[in-house]
Amino acid sequence: MLNPLTGNLTLTKPFVIAIDGPSASGKGVTSRRLAQMLGLLTVDTGAMYRTLAWHCLRMKVDVNDDKKVAALCRKWKTKLVAEEGQVRLLVDGYFPAKEIRTSEASAAVAHVAQVRAVRDWMKAKQRECIQFGSCVMEGRDIGSNIFPETDYKFFLDASPEVRKQRREREGVQEDVHARDKRDSSRAHSPLMPSLGAMIVDNSHHSVQETCDIMLEEINRRRKANRLAPLKPVA
Ligand code: C5P
Repeated sequence: MLNPLTGNLTLTKPFVIAIDGPSASGKGVTSRRLAQMLGLLTVDTGAMYRTLAWHCLRMKVDVNDDKKVAALCRKWKTKLVAEEGQVRLLVDGYFPAKEIRTSEASAAVAHVAQVRAVRDWMKAKQRECIQFGSCVMEGRDIGSNIFPETDYKFFLDASPEVRKQRREREGVQEDVHARDKRDSSRAHSPLMPSLGAMIVDNSHHSVQETCDIMLEEINRRRKANRLAPLKPVA
């Protein structure tokens, strides 16, 4: 298999580093940094759910109507591509980057994400992502449900005050607490630390310190399995 980032031939079986956690726990920035350090792809699964929420809004499908959301999800025209170091979900050939970050999409996403048929669809798509190579995949249920077989599982967290400050710094006006509550209490694959996940509270760590902690743990687990350590490339 060719590594899409380096163009080199890689003979190792693709693996996934699973990073779960609540909103503003630093999953996105940490995943991107860790992937860059190790020359891996990133997969932002929240962006995939947001893309469906955005698609529902533009197709005028009520996000509270589970059946209609499930029907739309069954028939939307999507494609996975690996570009710019990320695996992205295109809809009708288009990657909606900004559109999925609006307050409307943020308010809608936790509704579509609790629909069983949507979660099943997303699981299949997210598992397909390793066709492009090893990935750092971030979300809410990656370690518990999408790649439960991976040895590299992390649950990032930070104090409610720190998470609130992070969102305020980003200029995001959203009740993330309500979204977290909905994500943690839903029936299908709720947000929770998965079995075997290392819990990292990064309230007082920089992104680089968090990545260093994670890489040390990954290599500790690799050593236990007699695998060569992963070495930073950047
Ligand atoms: O990570 P982000 O905040 O962009 O995720 C948006 C929403 O997508 C979450 O609040 C959650 O409702 C949903 N989600 C999920 N499972 C994932 C990733 C995201 O339910 N693996």
